[in-house]
Amino acid sequence: MTYRSRYDAVVVGAGHNGLVAANLLADAGWSVLVLEAEDTPGGAARSTDALGPGWVTDLFSAFYPLGAASPVLRGLDLHEHGLTWSHAPAVLAHLLPDGRAAVMSRDPHETAASVDAFAAGDGEAWLDLVRRWDRLGDAVLDALFQPFPPIRPGLDLLRRLGPGDAARFARFAMLPVRRLGEEQFRGDGARLLLAGTALHSDMSPEEPGSAVFGWLMTMVGQRFGFPAPRGGSGMLTAALVRRLRSAGGEIRCGTPVERILVRGNRAQAVRTASGEVIGARRAVVADIDAPTLFLTLVGAQNLPSRFLDDLRRFQWDPSTLKLNWALSAPMPWKTAEVGRAGTVHLGADMDGLSDYTTALTTGRRPAKPFLLLGQMTTADPTRSPHGTEVLWAYTHLPRSLRGDADILRRQVEAVEDLLERHAPGFRDLVVNRILETPAGLNDADGNLVGGAINGGTAKIFQELIFRPVTGLGRPETPVRGLYLASAAAHPGGGVHGGPGGNAAKAALLHSGVRGALRSAGVRLALRTIYSGPDRGVLPPAAAELPSG
Ligand SMILES: Cc1cc2nc3c(=O)[nH]c(=O)nc-3n(C[C@H](O)[C@H](O)[C@H](O)COP(=O)(O)OP(=O)(O)OC[C@H]3O[C@@H](n4cnc5c(N)ncnc54)[C@H](O)[C@@H]3O)c2cc1C
Repeated sequence: MTYRSRYDAVVVGAGHNGLVAANLLADAGWSVLVLEAEDTPGGAARSTDALGPGWVTDLFSAFYPLGAASPVLRGLDLHEHGLTWSHAPAVLAHLLPDGRAAVMSRDPHETAASVDAFAAGDGEAWLDLVRRWDRLGDAVLDALFQPFPPIRPGLDLLRRLGPGDAARFARFAMLPVRRLGEEQFRGDGARLLLAGTALHSDMSPEEPGSAVFGWLMTMVGQRFGFPAPRGGSGMLTAALVRRLRSAGGEIRCGTPVERILVRGNRAQAVRTASGEVIGARRAVVADIDAPTLFLTLVGAQNLPSRFLDDLRRFQWDPSTLKLNWALSAPMPWKTAEVGRAGTVHLGADMDGLSDYTTALTTGRRPAKPFLLLGQMTTADPTRSPHGTEVLWAYTHLPRSLRGDADILRRQVEAVEDLLERHAPGFRDLVVNRILETPAGLNDADGNLVGGAINGGTAKIFQELIFRPVTGLGRPETPVRGLYLASAAAHPGGGVHGGPGGNAAKAALLHSGVRGALRSAGVRLALRTIYSGPDRGVLPPAAAELPSG
């Protein structure tokens, strides 16, 4: 086949993962073109002044603890391309329904004092978790952000733990966060700092794996904070784009890709919505959600039936309602110390978190929404005029209710009532408000299918080698030369560049003579996993495929 234009790699989607992959491939000397459907790059890392001139709000993600900690993003030296992290005076506050608050600061001793006020001894127990992190944290991060299996960092982790503690750490990794809180602490403060951050995923406090996620997020918060890019989340994207261009990469926005062209089981090219065909000599890297990539862009006819059967079991994460307010003054919190925190969790104690996640699972409107709130001007004073505040928040809804206008209206009311209860006078301070419904989120970024924010559930049965479907936990797909780079791939959602970095590393690994042997091994393993007949027991609609 001949193409009017041809690149070593075509990256589909300019979310941060696509941009990370493009940067790494361009660094390796590949010619790279990124094609983005929307008119602006960034996917779910974009900001706007739609609240008014001089006011910046993040349309999707806002705080990047994993981004600051990620060896992938740190390796790109984005500060040399305009990224500056900004920190609030305190990292995170969990505000309890009774008005008490646990506050996490970047100084672990300050956090310890806050949780100790809930129960004497909890401060020391918190410092114990921090010490565990300091012993293991960099090996954990290295393991998390490597293509699977993370052999070298895994061995390093084992060496640091020793044989006795390795088994104990394995148990720790299995714990539900409710249980970790009960084992480690006596008071609600520390328990809720862990559980609230565990709910940045869609796990409930009772779910195995939620403890280690809560520990990861809080400990990263201790050591790196929950920073926000100075000037808005779009500044992270701008730095990635600037870096890509300086490395020779190209990017074209307003160019949706509608097909990945496969011949001889190899991704050869992409076709855009306008009909242009662009060749990919070595790789097509897809920063696209898994069902859309495989069923719409690649097409079932190009995939093994066993793989399609697994894809039917794919589970989305819940739907999301996103809210933004411009306030004429800072939030008038009844609990003053909450005003220092960049991120605020509110609306639920431990049982409230369980009720909330149960409602999401059972398809009922959470009567008491759990809110993740950002005080953006507190985190970054450039976001709005002096003496004002930009609030950013989201809460989840069951996917089955995402299109119900009455439910959405009631949930907005419930959220604003909650804020008014904890900060009387809040409503009077609102000078502008932007609501982003699940459908609105999806319209603005095709990967946020039905308002899902994490590229699929983070429950343990869809993590590691089960992400996005049972396989290798690697970015290689059943189609040669096609790599999955989005949050649908291990290590999943969040702005940290893990999936993009892994996809680029895999593409580089498979090219050239030295990669040929390892490449053959990966292909053989994939063929074994997806060979054999479709054993499907689910009807095709079970996994809510692309229409979301
Ligand atoms: C409301 C909300 C709040 C969040 N808060 C946080 C937070 O505070 N911290 C955090 O770390 N994470 C947060 N997240 C999660 C995080 O934003 C995502 O996990 C992350 O952005 C995923 O990055 P990605 O590159 O995989 O995909 P995306 O950012 O979704 O980018 C995918 C890109 O591909 C493009 N695209 C899709 N289809 C096509 C096509 N056919 N052709 C061309 N282009 C296409 C899309 O337009 C988009 O630009 C939040 C997400 C949301 C929605």
